[in-house]
Amino acid sequence: MTVPITASMLYDLVSCPHRVTMDVFGDASEHDEPNAFVELLWEKGSLYEKEVMEGLEIPFTDLSKYQGLEKTQSTLEAMRRGDVLIYSGRMEADGLLGDPDLLRKEGGGYVAGDIKSGAGLEGSDDLSRPKKHYAVQLGLYTDILERKGLSAGRRGFIWDINGDEVIYDFTSPEDGRSSRTLWQVYEDTLAHAQEIVTRRTETLPAYSGVCKLCHWYTACVSRLTDSNDLTLIPELGRSKRDAMIPRVRTIRELASSDPGEFIAGNKTVFPGIGPATLKKLHARATLIAAGEKGVPYLKEPMSLPSEDLELFFDIEVDPMRDICYLHGFVERRGGDSNSEKFVPFFAEEPSAEAEKMAFARAWRYMRDSQPCVIYYYSKYERTIYRKLQVKYPDICTVAELEELFAPAHAVDLYFDVVLKLTEWPTRDYSIKTLANYLGFMWRDSHPSGAASIEWFHKWVGTGDPEVRQRILDYNEDDCRATRVLRDALDDLRVKPERLG
Ligand code: SF4
Repeated sequence: MTVPITASMLYDLVSCPHRVTMDVFGDASEHDEPNAFVELLWEKGSLYEKEVMEGLEIPFTDLSKYQGLEKTQSTLEAMRRGDVLIYSGRMEADGLLGDPDLLRKEGGGYVAGDIKSGAGLEGSDDLSRPKKHYAVQLGLYTDILERKGLSAGRRGFIWDINGDEVIYDFTSPEDGRSSRTLWQVYEDTLAHAQEIVTRRTETLPAYSGVCKLCHWYTACVSRLTDSNDLTLIPELGRSKRDAMIPRVRTIRELASSDPGEFIAGNKTVFPGIGPATLKKLHARATLIAAGEKGVPYLKEPMSLPSEDLELFFDIEVDPMRDICYLHGFVERRGGDSNSEKFVPFFAEEPSAEAEKMAFARAWRYMRDSQPCVIYYYSKYERTIYRKLQVKYPDICTVAELEELFAPAHAVDLYFDVVLKLTEWPTRDYSIKTLANYLGFMWRDSHPSGAASIEWFHKWVGTGDPEVRQRILDYNEDDCRATRVLRDALDDLRVKPERLG
C-alpha cells in the first residue's frame, strides 16, 4: 500500500526531498538520537498551540482527544453539522492525509489553518513573503477540502507567534519575482512527493545547513563521504549538483576535469552555473581532492585593520523568545595570548529589561574599548545589533551603531575575508569547521548555537548555575575560535586564481 502524503512530509520536502525518502524507506536503525533542540522546538510549538486555544474567547469544537479513524470521522461529522470552528481535525482523500490545527466555516465551506510558534511570513528586510513550507501544508488541507466538496476557496491561514492571522491566498504569486502561484508551488511539491513515495523518482542526499538538525545526519554524511559527493564542496548545493551530475559525479572527477571544456562564451553547459562559479568550484574540488596536501590559501593579499586591542565578539540569541541573551567578547592586547580575557554580558532572565541591560552593558564596553578592532563571524551580530538598536533606541543611535561596525575597525571574518579572499579544504566554512580544521577544540562535547538555545531554555527553567556556565563556556570558545581563525589568516600564502 502506498504511504499517504501528509502535510509534514511536504514541509520536509521543501528543505530536502531526500528526507522524505529516508523517512518512508530508510533503515530505522540508522536514525540518530533525537536532537534536543528539535525536541524543544516541538515542545514550544505544542505549548504555544495549547496557550492560544485556551485563551480563545470564541466557542470551538475540540477534537484533540480523538485519534486515527475516529478523529477523521468526527471531523467530517463536525463539518457536515456546520460547526463554526474545529480544532485538531483530521481529513483524508485520494491518498492525502491532513491534520489541520483549525478548520473554520466561511460561507458554504471551510478554510484550514495552522497555529505556528514562528512569524507567519518571511523576508530578510521586511516580513512580506509567504513561507513555502507553511504554504504547502495549507495547500494539502485545502486540496483535501476541495476533493471532499467542502472548500470555501483556495486560501488558508496561519495564527502566528505575534498573535496575527496571516492569510495564504493560493491565487497569489509565490513571491515578487515569480509568476508561479502558491497553488502551483503546492501542486509541484505534491507531485514530487507522490513520485518519491511510489519510487518513480530516486533522491540523493545533499549536504546543507538543514542536515545538522536532521535525524538522518550520520547516515547521509557517511553516504555522501563514501560517494565523494559534490555537495561536500562549500556553496555547491543540491541544485548545482543535480545540474552537474550527468557529466561530473564526484569531487575527484571535478578536480581532474578541465573546467574550460564545460565553458562556451559566457556560459557553461550546466544550467544556473556561470563560468566564474564553475572555476571557483573547480578550485575547491582540487583543494579537497588533494587530501592532506591540500592547504588553505589566500586568493589575493589581505589587509586587516590593526590596533593594540582586539575584541573577538559573538552573541547568542533565542529566536523562540526573540531575546539576545549573551554578548561575549574575548579581548586581547598587543597580540599576546597571555593577555586574553573573556568578558560576557548575560541577560539574567528572559525579559526585555534583562535583554536591554545586557545590550547596554555590551554597548558601553565596546564604546569604552575604542580604539580597537572588533572581529565577528557572519552578518548575524550586526543584524541583531540593528534590531536591538530599534528595540532600545535610548542605548545608542543608528549613526553610532553604523560607526561601530564600520569596516575600518570592525571585520566580518566570514563574509569579508573567508568567503571573498580564501579557499579551504573543508566541506563548509562554518566557524566550527574552520577552527576544528585549525586544531581548535571546543570544551563542550556537543557545541552548537542550537544547543546553546536549548541550554538557555533549561537554565530559565531550573536556574542551574552549571547550565549557565555551560552557556558561557560555549560562547567563550566561539570567541576564541574566531581568534584562532584570525591568527591563522596571517599564515596563509597567496595563490592567485587562474582566470583563463
Ligand atoms: S541529513 Fe540532510 S540530506 Fe539527509 S535527509 Fe536529512 S536533510 Fe536530507
